[in-house]
Amino acid sequence: MKILVGFAFLIIVLSSCAPGPITFASNKTIAHRGAWKTADLPQNSIASLKRAIELKVAGSEFDVRMTKDGELVINHDPLYAEDTIELTTYAELSKHTLKNGERLPTLKDYLKAGSRNNNQTCLVVEVKPSLVDKNQGVWAATKTVALIKEMKLQARVVYISFDYEILKEIRHLDAFAVTQYLTGDKTPAELKADGVSGADYHISVYRENPEWITQLKDNEMILNAWTVNTAEDMDWLLGQGFDFITTDQPELLFERLKLLMTKRPVK
Ligand code: MG
Repeated sequence: MKILVGFAFLIIVLSSCAPGPITFASNKTIAHRGAWKTADLPQNSIASLKRAIELKVAGSEFDVRMTKDGELVINHDPLYAEDTIELTTYAELSKHTLKNGERLPTLKDYLKAGSRNNNQTCLVVEVKPSLVDKNQGVWAATKTVALIKEMKLQARVVYISFDYEILKEIRHLDAFAVTQYLTGDKTPAELKADGVSGADYHISVYRENPEWITQLKDNEMILNAWTVNTAEDMDWLLGQGFDFITTDQPELLFERLKLLMTKRPVK
């Protein structure tokens, strides 16, 4: 019996979002830019993060960019209110609010909100590459890791990026950091060799390279896919045993998971 309990615990730990004392929700659901769609909230807003936490998703994803004066802010596009974030100061950018009246969130605001009333939702931090200078992206990553360490939130975060150098730098700065690569042009063996914890590739990459799914599993690496918004795609990934599915529609994924559970034979 003890062996069985130990084995079950091991499974939970391996599929956990980030290492450490927090037990993250096991529903595989990563809300892409927060949970914004159903309530028509701005993407990447604190409101969308809070909604994701209320839904108790396994993780809530957001995008980090750096302003001209070195402030880390949360926004998907390189432009905010028609200004290029990297070339504009935070004071200028924050004159424009989000459509729900929120101030453009800083990473610090976001991390504070994400660690409040939250015992189950991992924070999935995407560090965006710089459009201006590759080193600026790496610098943004350095500052991001430093802030997360300062706020003692390492056990609540995982890092993702399209920029391989950014992920390698994060790993260099925090040997325990969980990292997932987004671009889809590296084999599982290459990721493993570089100390990347897993793949978070577009679903089409896995459909074209189904052997990578097996290779990632064989290497006990994390399997995540973006951005999955149809029931058919969700069902395929669930059938393949993915650890995480990144979606704009967390409620739909909950429905698919529920259906899958009810279809399981009762022993
Ligand atoms: Mg993103």
